Amino acid sequence: MADAEEQKSFSSVQSPPNERAARESRGKRLRLRLFRSKRVRIALLVLLVLAVLSQIPFIYRRRELGNLRAQIEALKNNRELHFAREDEYRDYRGVIHVHSSLGGHSTGTPRAIITAAQANELHFVVMTEHPAREFDTAALTLNGAHGGVLFIGGSEVAAASGERLLLFPGSVPQTNTIQTANDIMSGERTSGQLRFVAYPSEFRSWESQDYDGIEIYSLFTNARDINLPVMFFDGLWSYGSYPDLLFARFYQRPAASLRQWDEVMRVTRRRIVAVAGVDAHANVGFRVGDMGGHDVFGLLLDPYERSFRVVRTHALLARDRELNAENLLAALRDGHVYFSFDIFSDATGFRFTATNSERQTAMMGDEIALGLEARLRVVAPLESRILLFRDGDVIDEARNTSQHEFIVRQPGIYRVEIYLPQLTIVQDQPWIISNPIYVR
Ligand SMILES: [Zn+2]
Repeated sequence: MADAEEQKSFSSVQSPPNERAARESRGKRLRLRLFRSKRVRIALLVLLVLAVLSQIPFIYRRRELGNLRAQIEALKNNRELHFAREDEYRDYRGVIHVHSSLGGHSTGTPRAIITAAQANELHFVVMTEHPAREFDTAALTLNGAHGGVLFIGGSEVAAASGERLLLFPGSVPQTNTIQTANDIMSGERTSGQLRFVAYPSEFRSWESQDYDGIEIYSLFTNARDINLPVMFFDGLWSYGSYPDLLFARFYQRPAASLRQWDEVMRVTRRRIVAVAGVDAHANVGFRVGDMGGHDVFGLLLDPYERSFRVVRTHALLARDRELNAENLLAALRDGHVYFSFDIFSDATGFRFTATNSERQTAMMGDEIALGLEARLRVVAPLESRILLFRDGDVIDEARNTSQHEFIVRQPGIYRVEIYLPQLTIVQDQPWIISNPIYVR
């Protein structure tokens, strides 16, 4: 067949009557090639159009972040802090769950951490170093006052079961026998040491009496749920102008941890303190990786400074008490703390207090007798939407107000979540999450 065709084409060159046919066939081949390249061009054009179209949502999302920035700026002028100056507490803001280069998985230096804390005007930082066999990382990390910031040196200890605890101050002796969280908790507590459950979804030892609280929100855990392709394009369009606000693109209320916390408190009737952790590791603000410390994805964000801006734990100390390790640890132990996503607005000024018919008073973290009824008072530094929870269920709500009093006539574990409807794209995610008042 191939031979016959070759012969045919050979004879067409040789004999003039076949020249036209040959020209036609050449033309046909040329047209085919043209047609093919035209098809390729069209295909490329379609792809180009699709690529451009696919970016429209991200351009729109960039605009949304611009609006969010403007809305946040507008809130700054609306702060109502007069009440906070009058009452008996002072609000200290800080971050919990920070690693330096001491425990591996991190390149952060003490200087970088101090500078980042100062830039964020933080009052305290709780360091939670990964333990090492050769030396005591909790003792070697930042401890005490540095550059006007109070540091508490602690540790993050993992059991073979995958359970993890934040211990501060100090750590536990490193042995081979840490199979479960109970092995961590069964040891003697060094003086005043607190134990907070990290990664509550991995925790199994809920029946234990030996932990004080739970890291309800973890920036690290939340960041693991990032949709990478979406974040890639969001980053491409928005990172240049709104690097810190990219957080709003993946921030999710920690619903599972909140449910778990509500349930454990309801069942055990124990007071369990909620805090937020940043789990700041290294030289990326939002570091995404697995629990073994392997990076999966990292946006090129400032070291520490940006993650310290996102979510903070605020401690309330009586005005006559100075900020020192002892008083801060007491506030954390007693649940006189709340956490807030200060990237949207500094929550300083928030209060959640109770008064009963016997005129006894309590603040978040405390117990109070119901009496005939109890008045739960919420004060926020901004007009907001306030949700009241009892034993894990929303039972009441106040809108467009910075102060509200809920009257309750049933015992229960009452806590509030504060939302900012002014911030359109995050209006359904909480700004502040309080610790409970235990009405018995
Ligand atoms: Zn950690």
